[in-house]
Amino acid sequence: HGKNTRRGLLSLFDHAFERALQQRLSVAQELRYSIERGELEVYFQPQHCLQTQSLMGAEALLRWRRAGQLVSPIEFIEAAESTGLIVPLGAWVLETACHEQQRWWRETGQRLTVAVNVSMRQLIDPHFLDQVDQALQKTGITPEDLELEITESMMMEDPAALQQLIAGLRDRGIKVAMDDFGTGYSSLSHLQQLPLDKLKIDRAFISGLEQHKEDRLLVEMMINLGHMLGHIVIAEGVETQEQQQILCELGCDRVQGYFYSPPLAAEAWQAYLLAHAQPE
Ligand code: C2E
Ligand code: MG
Ligand code: MG
Ligand code: MG
Repeated sequence: HGKNTRRGLLSLFDHAFERALQQRLSVAQELRYSIERGELEVYFQPQHCLQTQSLMGAEALLRWRRAGQLVSPIEFIEAAESTGLIVPLGAWVLETACHEQQRWWRETGQRLTVAVNVSMRQLIDPHFLDQVDQALQKTGITPEDLELEITESMMMEDPAALQQLIAGLRDRGIKVAMDDFGTGYSSLSHLQQLPLDKLKIDRAFISGLEQHKEDRLLVEMMINLGHMLGHIVIAEGVETQEQQQILCELGCDRVQGYFYSPPLAAEAWQAYLLAHAQPE
């Protein structure tokens, strides 16, 4: 009796496992055609200067319109990375984002920085820098107006190789930001050796700013550390006026989050841009 139950449970597990696997495979399979089917979109989320409230730039965030439903990268980035699809997808995002930045400048006179997320899998691709050069060339974006966001976890794999890659980007004038800072346990000596422009404090610390003293202390430390290393410090996931106020008191440079705006589709972004336009 007991044996049968166990077998029953096992086959139930097998089933669930198989279904999950099947689902991941089908995600990857559909994702493969998402570019040519025109199902991918880039959303933009504004980044503001905390002191002046000026609009400084935007982060490009990938969206997939899968069978009419808008899907966030959390749902498919892993599949894209494990299959290597992130390489062509990432190239598409990069080129689209640069192209849009140029269009904003042309159509509204606003010259903003555009930030693009880059996965480890893209960075280690031998053609990564060629892809970047191609995007620069095709779109005509000024390299100084492009920022690439990498994460701390990338540093742990091969710090020397990462350092070299970042130097290659910096040689071109491109800016580099450390995304989700504070979650990756990178050593301070590695951090000090990386020629970064920006630290992006992870939103996990921002959400606790009002309630938790420890989070406030950690954020203060990260801001001071960033400044000591000569970097601009930006907080992501700012949702309330109070968080914004605390960040201001702690000397943070820039902010991004729902308090200002969620990521916006191209048209809504254009409207946001016009509403926050600076005199030229
Ligand atoms: P990330 O780069 O840390 O991006 C910030 C995420 O936080 C975005 O989620 C954004 O929509 C969300 N967010 C922004 N403000 C707030 C806020 O105030 N509150 C809350 N709760 N969330 C906020 P999204 O767009 O779902 O992207 C998730 C992650 O997927 C990104 O995290 C990034 O790591 C990755 N990703 C997005 N687009 C790309 C891409 O084009 N290429 C690569 N390689 N990764 C991407
Ligand atoms: Mg990011
Ligand atoms: Mg982030
Ligand atoms: Mg994050």
